[in-house]
Amino acid sequence: MRPLKELLRPNIERLKPYSSARNEYSGKEAHVFLDANENPYNAPYNRYPDPLQTELKALIAEKKGVPAENIFLGNGSDEAIDLMYRCFCRPSIDNVVAIEPTYGMYEVCADINDVEYRRVLLDDNFQVSADKILGACNRNTKLIWICSPNNPTGNNINQECIIDTIKRFNGIVIVDEAYSDFSDAPLFRTRTTEFPNLVVLNTMSKAWGCAAIRLGMAFAQKDIIDVMNKVKYPYNVNFLTQQHAMQELRNFDVLGWVSLITQERERVLKAFLDLKACEKIYPTDANFFLAKMTDAQSIYNYLVDKGVIVRNRNKVRLCGNCLRITVGSKGENNELLSALRQF
Ligand SMILES: *Cc1c(COP(=O)(O)O)cnc(C)c1O
Repeated sequence: MRPLKELLRPNIERLKPYSSARNEYSGKEAHVFLDANENPYNAPYNRYPDPLQTELKALIAEKKGVPAENIFLGNGSDEAIDLMYRCFCRPSIDNVVAIEPTYGMYEVCADINDVEYRRVLLDDNFQVSADKILGACNRNTKLIWICSPNNPTGNNINQECIIDTIKRFNGIVIVDEAYSDFSDAPLFRTRTTEFPNLVVLNTMSKAWGCAAIRLGMAFAQKDIIDVMNKVKYPYNVNFLTQQHAMQELRNFDVLGWVSLITQERERVLKAFLDLKACEKIYPTDANFFLAKMTDAQSIYNYLVDKGVIVRNRNKVRLCGNCLRITVGSKGENNELLSALRQF
């Protein structure tokens, strides 16, 4: 890895961050707060939230097995994705490399930040090699995006490929583990000490059932987390989200849901094999799967008519005639299956 100083955009390296009232004073003893121009009434909503989400991070640290200083929290993983560009990529100079097909936000954020987005096409098994990924890089490549389990293909990317890429690349490798709760593959989020150029993304939106509250996280070495905190909006995770996330983390675990959903996944996959409308299903390590249909567009329209919405991936490279189907509740899955049996 190149020194962080060299990887960062020079303006970010020099940046003196905004210092909020809640940043400058932090301590438990005070009880009169006249420092932030807040309204004294309407507690607790009158107060600005903790800009560094200290209490929430302590809970996440415990749950995820990662020290709090190695955790960044944002308004969905999408904030962390955008921040990576804003911290590391000089507009119209630097570039990033990503597998193709993959999660659409990496490219959208590249476009917004005016950063060249280079694609490395997966093979027929939706796999790739480190050689191919590194072959797409040049000296202005700052980031490599690897989503595993990958969206929309559903499969894990080969571990050796990921490790090899991290070890051989001199910039930052981001491994997006949004769906890792549904997979048995070893996790990368606890390995950021071993790999100083690794950033791992997690989210409350999938296994945790909290897409509505918008809470995403990044795990990385402290120096990278510190830069992300410097660049983010001061109060990027609101009070309601912090409160609700803490409640969920204290009171629940996702293991029950995960086993329910993965069991349903196996049942639905089996049922798809018997559908005349389905030509092939792809192996999955996520809470969704990709199915090659006889005619994805007309089946998609037919399902919409019946009030059942799936994701049409027909136009995505390597996904011709494919639908991406989220595993729902038993009842929802049965509605989908009976509609498809009548097609
Ligand atoms: C759904 C998803 C996310 C989650 O994004 P949030 O902004 O946290 O809701 C992240 N990465 C991938 C690959 C996803 O599919």
